[in-house]
Amino acid sequence: CGIVGVTGNENATDILLDGLQQLEYRGYDSAGIYVNDQQGDGFLVKEKGRIADLRALVGPEVKGSTGIGHTRWATHGVPSVKNAHPHVSADGRFFLVHNGVIGNFSQLRDEYLADVELKSDTDTEIIVQLIGKFADEGMDTLAAFRKVLGLVDESSSYSFLLMDKDQPSKLFVAKNKSPLLLGVGDGFNVVCSDATAMLEQTHDFIELMDGEVVVVEPDKIQIMDPAGNAVEREPFHIDMDP
Ligand code: GLU
Repeated sequence: CGIVGVTGNENATDILLDGLQQLEYRGYDSAGIYVNDQQGDGFLVKEKGRIADLRALVGPEVKGSTGIGHTRWATHGVPSVKNAHPHVSADGRFFLVHNGVIGNFSQLRDEYLADVELKSDTDTEIIVQLIGKFADEGMDTLAAFRKVLGLVDESSSYSFLLMDKDQPSKLFVAKNKSPLLLGVGDGFNVVCSDATAMLEQTHDFIELMDGEVVVVEPDKIQIMDPAGNAVEREPFHIDMDP
């Protein structure tokens, strides 16, 4: 239902929680965040119910400079902690939040993941497990991400934010028929499904097109078209108070 991400800011946890709070009006049944530091030491916190309930679980140790957050409106799998996002690959390396629906998730599961013990009942988990599997087989993260995007059928809608413990300051981003904006900060960058989530952090946003893949780092935003060519796009300014 709602997505937020940040990299390059020591207050990542608060930025994510405050961002999710701003998206609360859209409605949701559960929420979660994952943050890590620059060594890849991370924290995953998920809860059913309100953002206030999630916040109550987030202790002072939950700190980092890169992270992703999600409010869920369940489509596959009941509202519960295990079905809340972020979802995690089998080896604990990849973390993914997703808005939307993966039309062919059960075919992908049956074809590629028969030997993987799934931890949730969601369509989303299939995507992160597939990325983990292809990375295990030797692909780099971007290639694994692109391969999985290519396996998802046309009926699917998604905005994805992916993190890789082995590259702890990067956010891997893609969207199709689901909104997602990049936000340009001063020494950090953010991602959100709705600008209102990040107006406390920046007023400068870059639009994303369906099929593009983006790697967001603290001081760099690299947009690629579906063929992998670099795309240059200037930010636009939103003149509105949070
Ligand atoms: N289809 C995913 C799920 O049920 C994402 C739902 C959403 O957009 O919040 O977990």
